[in-house]
Amino acid sequence: MARKFLLCFHDFSVWNYQKVTPILEKLKDLAGAPFSILVIPDTETAPSDTVRDFRATLTQLKSEDFELALHGFKHKAEFSQGRSYAGLIAMNLTQGEAEFAGLSEFESSRLLHAGLDAWEKLFEVPGLVRNDIEKPAAFIPPTWYSNKFLPTQVHAEKMLYEDRFALVTSRGKRYASPVASFAGIPGFMTKTAFKFGDIILKVPVGLPRIALHPEDFPQHEIQIKNLIRTALGCGRRLTQYKDL
Ligand SMILES: [Zn+2]
Repeated sequence: MARKFLLCFHDFSVWNYQKVTPILEKLKDLAGAPFSILVIPDTETAPSDTVRDFRATLTQLKSEDFELALHGFKHKAEFSQGRSYAGLIAMNLTQGEAEFAGLSEFESSRLLHAGLDAWEKLFEVPGLVRNDIEKPAAFIPPTWYSNKFLPTQVHAEKMLYEDRFALVTSRGKRYASPVASFAGIPGFMTKTAFKFGDIILKVPVGLPRIALHPEDFPQHEIQIKNLIRTALGCGRRLTQYKDL
């Protein structure tokens, strides 16, 4: 079996799609194939014409065979949701982005379904029954901080679950999956993070991921392109969550 890797662009949203979409197209040309885009589905406070345009962009990306995955609900949360102590620490470490961290079973399920409802609103077509809207292939909690109930809840919705170190498909198949990510780390660590990316792609084990964020561009663009070239150059094939 050929070795594979995942290229995952995080945090695509109604607030940044205009800036990010051209970057996606450029990366697709470089990688030679469309890849996975992690979508923040909430559009509640965005102007309606922007939402309409965002939805059209998602449909366009899908038609180009980009894979769209679900990335939380708002990617921002309040503290008032009955979090565990570890959850509160995770929220603190991520400036409140770890919206699933340490939630109770009830709150975690409520938030997951808020995300799925927002997803359905993005893809609803007049005349199409809600059940016919394609479910996202994967669910990735913002910042990968989670709670002990979320993996089971995601699998019950027939989606692949991703954490920081592994992927588990809805059928229970587990992949060790180290990730190279560059957002939110201090400047002096950037070089180390790219070196780590280089190693996980070259070592012939596991299913490495390159996780990209809007704030990586244009700052780290050159190194990111080199990393993708490295992945392809050492014989790995770009895959998507749905094909695992
Ligand atoms: Zn994110």
